[in-house]
Amino acid sequence: MCFPPGFLWGTATSAHQVEGGNEQNQWWAWEQQPGRIWKGDRSGLACDWWRRAEDDLALAAEMGQNSHRFSIEWSRIEPQKGCFDDRPLERYRRLITRMHELGLEPMVTLHHFTNPQWLEDQGGWLNPEAVERFARFVERAVTALGDGVRLWCTINEPAVYALLGFIEGDFPPGLHSPLQALRVLRHLLLAHAEAYRVVHRLQPDAQVGTVNHIHLFDPARASSPLDRWVASALDGIFNAGPLRAAVDGRLRFPLTWSNRRVAALVNSCDFIGINYYTREMVAFDLRRPADLFGRRFYAPGAEHADISRRDDFGDIYPEGLYRCLRAYAGLGKPLYVTENGWPDAADVHRPRALLSHITQLWRAMAEGAPVRGYYHWSLIDNFEWAEGWSQRFGLIAMDPVTQARRLRRSAELYAAIAHGNGITKELVEQYAPEAMARIFEY
Ligand code: BGC
Repeated sequence: MCFPPGFLWGTATSAHQVEGGNEQNQWWAWEQQPGRIWKGDRSGLACDWWRRAEDDLALAAEMGQNSHRFSIEWSRIEPQKGCFDDRPLERYRRLITRMHELGLEPMVTLHHFTNPQWLEDQGGWLNPEAVERFARFVERAVTALGDGVRLWCTINEPAVYALLGFIEGDFPPGLHSPLQALRVLRHLLLAHAEAYRVVHRLQPDAQVGTVNHIHLFDPARASSPLDRWVASALDGIFNAGPLRAAVDGRLRFPLTWSNRRVAALVNSCDFIGINYYTREMVAFDLRRPADLFGRRFYAPGAEHADISRRDDFGDIYPEGLYRCLRAYAGLGKPLYVTENGWPDAADVHRPRALLSHITQLWRAMAEGAPVRGYYHWSLIDNFEWAEGWSQRFGLIAMDPVTQARRLRRSAELYAAIAHGNGITKELVEQYAPEAMARIFEY
């Protein structure tokens, strides 16, 4: 299974999860509050990337990767409202230069879940002023870094940010208000559109993308109209609505009552980034109004990676990647798989999962999906938000106490895929012989 020449094979990370010492954002404050993070973990030094990202990126390059997606930390660049600090921008510039030397094309995310504490203090993304504040930060960052960056992502997973912070309450500010979640999501989408325009004003040739988490919801009983209804409502609200808004400009119900079209949002992306992890089954259940009348669970008999406390990363479902890519292939934009991975400390499931998902990626491309790159989540074990250090997504295992690194078997496998620009029978034989028939069925 060969991929086209120039296909990007990368890994993804985010600033707060790897840099360490991000003391001026709202996550740092959240981590200090008892009971917020599983087992009281903290990001602390994280992977110490503020000082040593280059070492791990050199490993990525050795593994044959030719791109890396990472995020820049707004709270470092603008630690006080309106006061910008050029030193962190200098640090990011050096990092980007080094990435080019290593043959890694940088893909830079402008917002990945973290806000400066001063923004949070004035209401965060509930406050409409956040949109303009973000645009100013973007202007500053792109002016400083733009000559080394061609690929930008605006806001990572706006729907996840809104859901976890404002409905489920696992992320700061820990609220449980669907109305506020919708307000935040609207602001994030508007900020995406602003960022798109700012980057293009400064850098007309840049490619600017929207990045959405696509969580598949399937009806528990395909024959039940109610199960089908609830699965498709969840898909519309969480997946398709925010993603399509950046193409056709529509804020659909429940974001607005009128399915309003916002001029700035129309065609506000040059590519679509898809973060795909898992799917759930949904059954209509009248007793769950707060969950939109949907009871969600994993498909019986599904293969599981390490189950999180939140129980939301279980089901390894490779075909889901194919389905996501097919679902959005017709929007007229190039696609990138901007995240895909599994928490699997022992690396028991990951080799097979990796081969199976990349097979499904190849299958979607063979049927015409315009996919330009794949970024595995993640290069290295990192601070997994409310799950702390309990979930290990890295190709490289990392001990946050000693900072020691160790390559997992999956790192070797991914290196072979990237070096060979595809999957061979020999690789499957070596890493997941039991999956041979399934993998070569297409
Ligand atoms: C987020 C990452 C996170 C990953 C695994 C994604 O939704 O963008 O920050 O680490 O999921 O949970």
